[in-house]
Amino acid sequence: MTPAPFEYVAPTTIEEAVAALAEHGDEAKILAGGQSLLPVLRMRLNAPEWVIDLGRIDALRGIRDGGDHLVIGTMTTHDTVLHDPLVHEHALLLTKATETLADSQVRHRGTFGGSLAHADPAGDLGASAMALGASFVIAGPGGTRTVAAEDFFVDLFETAISDDEILTEVHVPKHTGWGAHYEKFVRIAHQWPIVAVAASVRVEGDTIAEARVGLTNMGNTPLRARAVEQALVGQPATADAVRQAAAHATEGANPPSDLNGDADYRRHLATVLTGRAVLAAAGRNGAGLRSPA
Ligand SMILES: Cc1cc2nc3c(=O)[nH]c(=O)nc-3n(C[C@H](O)[C@H](O)[C@H](O)COP(=O)(O)OP(=O)(O)OC[C@H]3O[C@@H](n4cnc5c(N)ncnc54)[C@H](O)[C@@H]3O)c2cc1C
Repeated sequence: MTPAPFEYVAPTTIEEAVAALAEHGDEAKILAGGQSLLPVLRMRLNAPEWVIDLGRIDALRGIRDGGDHLVIGTMTTHDTVLHDPLVHEHALLLTKATETLADSQVRHRGTFGGSLAHADPAGDLGASAMALGASFVIAGPGGTRTVAAEDFFVDLFETAISDDEILTEVHVPKHTGWGAHYEKFVRIAHQWPIVAVAASVRVEGDTIAEARVGLTNMGNTPLRARAVEQALVGQPATADAVRQAAAHATEGANPPSDLNGDADYRRHLATVLTGRAVLAAAGRNGAGLRSPA
């Protein structure tokens, strides 16, 4: 199917984009990489009268060092994030999550911010953004505001971005020297996970000194597994200790049931995958942990 007809505008500055949104309001939709929006338009699940393309706004692209955090422009492609040395050095968890995201073609078109703004609970980047304590810079008619990750994801496909606002950049606190792993369970390759776990840990000697864990597709939004984090701190990075901490993975989770698996299956997956992700992040392999099936 082809999309319903729409008017197209491609501003070259953030101010112009915000002005276009203010003018067209509810009738407008923002276009980033188009990897999620275009299928929606083609299936006519949405028929905006205006499409505002952010692709010509250079200020929305790129990754820079912001001191104690990285600044990632919303229109930075997944491929750029994947190969960026700053991200690899200071936010390895994002590198690990991005390398599992879709295929090379989608990663060249799809954007970091577009993916987070889309807020698909099965999207691969939200759990890492939560785990790393990212914050989101949003521009609107009244200026810019910054929203913490835990307040950014509101519900299924719903974020703190209002209809007249644009996500401009994401600030990711540096986790230099931390190990990281994204453990993703899929039915077929290059697809969204049934469940996935993002883990980043700082190990001192053989002990887990700090831990950050996020869950994908275990509720309407990405989740931070704080009970696991607390249970990990001070523990040895061994399969037994990690397995005990991972048993807390489902606390506060409300996983969906669908054709890929029911809620109980997802709870089981989350526990097993958390153990694997944490051990891999700590530089230990997942040997000794039972398989999810
Ligand atoms: C075949 C295929 C496989 C995929 N597999 C995966 C996968 O395994 N894991 C995964 O996580 N994702 C996957 N994706 C989705 C991919 O990550 C997309 O890049 C992402 O969902 C949307 O990013 P985009 O830049 O294409 O945004 P778009 O599709 O352009 O926009 C998505 C939504 O966000 C809004 N939006 C975009 N940018 C902004 C902004 N700056 N401010 C406010 N609103 C904004 C748009 O209006 C739209 O509603 C897949 C996509 C395809 C086509």
